[in-house]
Amino acid sequence: MEEKSLKSVYFHFRFKFLAVTSIAFLLYVILSGSGEFDQFSSSIQFKLIGPFFVFAGISFLIFRRFPIKCPVCNTLVATKKNWECAYCHKSQGKDRYLIDKCVHCRQLQSTASCEHCKQEFLL
Ligand SMILES: [Zn+2]
Ligand SMILES: [Zn+2]
Repeated sequence: MEEKSLKSVYFHFRFKFLAVTSIAFLLYVILSGSGEFDQFSSSIQFKLIGPFFVFAGISFLIFRRFPIKCPVCNTLVATKKNWECAYCHKSQGKDRYLIDKCVHCRQLQSTASCEHCKQEFLL
């Protein structure tokens, strides 16, 4: 089998980073919180939970919309398009985000290709 050395655009990394940050923040809130709920609910950490998750939610929406740059030719590649699944080779039938799972086989895409240079790269 031929070893593929595709370049990566770290598309999934954005979301992993966001998830890790959210978990770290929650752990921080839980571990630093007071045992008494009355005190905990008036603490600054507790008050930050709401705004933090609003911020995380907005980041998620921006991240998935934010275009990726082809690592081969540096052209911007749309993250929402009618992409073809790398596993079942079926087209999605409508414009969908690259972070979404395939409508046919429910596989998360690990690669995408550039419309400009037709090169495949890792997400
Ligand atoms: Zn598929
Ligand atoms: Zn390209």
